Amino acid sequence: AQKSIAGVPGGIERTFIAVKPDGTQRFLIGEIIKRFETKGYKLVAIKAIVPSRTLAEKHYEDLKGRPFFNGLVKYMTSGAAPVIAMVWEGKDVIRQGRRLIGATNPLEAQPGTIRGDFCISVGRNIIHGSDSFESAEKEIGLWFGKSEVIEWEFGNAEWVTADN
Ligand code: GDP
Ligand code: MG
Repeated sequence: AQKSIAGVPGGIERTFIAVKPDGTQRFLIGEIIKRFETKGYKLVAIKAIVPSRTLAEKHYEDLKGRPFFNGLVKYMTSGAAPVIAMVWEGKDVIRQGRRLIGATNPLEAQPGTIRGDFCISVGRNIIHGSDSFESAEKEIGLWFGKSEVIEWEFGNAEWVTADN
């Protein structure tokens, strides 16, 4: 059973994934969900949200002071389209999520990754994913209340997760 959400690399984890407003505008929500869903991960929270400036600034607080910070916050909060905020759960999902997403600069992202397949600009790279266990915990707590994250089990869990 997948009960423990441990901070063990390679263990059952949760990560925060968000379709950014450009991904929403470009009709890529379904495609992005599909990548995680068909890989074998479990969607445990999802909502459409226009983040407040405070939320966006907290989310990206590590980047405060970078030349693109203000533009980044404006892009995330404009309301021209919502952010699709999600929590995905599964084996090694934090690291694997980053691999599915690809490099920050889409021009460096491998074909086959989400950014490698669907975008060309670092300022419009369509998706966010937590980069560590610590950032995943922080980001899930920022974007979701506890009751918004749903515990459920795959009916076919053995077919997805068995190692033998
Ligand atoms: P990520 O974890 O791969 O999303 O990358 P970072 O945490 O380094 O940066 C967060 C986000 O800031 C990126 O996804 C981009 O949207 C944006 N960003 C990062 N570097 C640049 C840059 O050089 N120029 C611009 N315009 N945006 C950037
Ligand atoms: Mg990051």
